[in-house]
Amino acid sequence: MSKRIAILGSTGSIGCNALAVIEHLGAPYQAVALSGNRNTARLVEQIRQHRPSAVAVRDDEAAGAIAPLAGGAVLYRGADGLVEMVQRDDIDIVLAAIVGAAGLPAVMSAIQAKKTIALANKEALVVAGSLVIPEAKKRGVELLPVDSEHSAIFQAMQAGRREDVKRVILTASGGPFRDWPVQRMQQATVDEALAHPTWNMGGKITIDSATMFNKGLELIEACWLFGLPPSKIEIVIHPESVVHSMVEFVDGSVLAQLSPPDMRTPIQYALTWPHRRNGISRMLDLTKAFSLNFEPPNFDKFPALRLAYDVACMGGTAGAVMNAANEIAVSAFLEGNIAFGRISAVVADTISQHQLQEHPSMDDLLEADRWARNQANLIISQ
Ligand code: NDP
Ligand code: MG
Repeated sequence: MSKRIAILGSTGSIGCNALAVIEHLGAPYQAVALSGNRNTARLVEQIRQHRPSAVAVRDDEAAGAIAPLAGGAVLYRGADGLVEMVQRDDIDIVLAAIVGAAGLPAVMSAIQAKKTIALANKEALVVAGSLVIPEAKKRGVELLPVDSEHSAIFQAMQAGRREDVKRVILTASGGPFRDWPVQRMQQATVDEALAHPTWNMGGKITIDSATMFNKGLELIEACWLFGLPPSKIEIVIHPESVVHSMVEFVDGSVLAQLSPPDMRTPIQYALTWPHRRNGISRMLDLTKAFSLNFEPPNFDKFPALRLAYDVACMGGTAGAVMNAANEIAVSAFLEGNIAFGRISAVVADTISQHQLQEHPSMDDLLEADRWARNQANLIISQ
């Protein structure tokens, strides 16, 4: 079967890992389309190495800079270019690895073009799961999770029938501030928040892990991917990040997927599914003693968790608003404009000022996203 892959966000952390996996797998796996935003140097390097037939870049200026180095690849420009590129006939699988709501239009376009989707871009589901999931079902498109927890759930689910699932247990490392006193955490510096104990990832998701908004986004992502209400998803802190999540069935059996924390494992599974191939990641070494720990999360210390459960129950435009406000608050923190402790407060305030729409169209969701960005910026500037 043909495995021609478009990597949206190829210059990012997931994108680079995906290219390493594709190189490791060899034929028929092939990166035929790439996309970058600001990191033109890395994109040029990837073009040289992988010789894609299509490349999407930020704007005309980037296209001008890249054209002489593109080796004949067709260049697509801006957000509309991404939407157009994923529809190409020479693409079988679209790996959605752009960060944030910016990745949504291309995901929707790829589904409409009936491409298999390997989904890392969780924000696309948080914003528009109510439209993305029905569209994928309507077109018979597979939506394969790349997020390690969702890949684990997807794998464990294969051991039983959907109607026999009692609950899903979503594991979380707890991030860098798991053991910090709240007061100290509120004033954490950017470097401290970027120092994740178990995963090496892009900046935004690393901050999301520190606030635990990442787990909140993943809760909503899991509701959409597996058709579950939030009440059937429980979050458990597991600092070692070895058990990537679990599924409990009605008979009391709990199935888990384990592997060392390395995104190349779930990326590869999404690309080779329903088959498995030799991996490039380190294997779990059970010849040495080690322990796995589990503890309940602290909802008071990490308000993002309760917010996410509330948003998951609200539905409608709530996910788009939470996501957009969080994107703005994370950028403001990274730019030194707000304290770490204000990120959750900015998101909570934005949500509380929002007029919920229960059955939004794509335009309504994009409008909610725009509104929330403005509102969050206003709250930050007050
Ligand atoms: P990075 O920040 O490392 O990479 C993001 C990618 O998206 C880059 O290629 C970047 O281009 C591109 N990009 C950013 N903004 C835009 C935009 N407005 N338009 C087009 N392209 C854009 O992020 P990660 O790889 O860490 O994460 C990607 C996604 O995968 C996120 O949704 C994240 O939540 C999810 N994910 C990531 C995991 C990880 O281990 N990293 C684990 C599980 C999920 P450039 O760099 O050229 O500017
Ligand atoms: Mg994850």
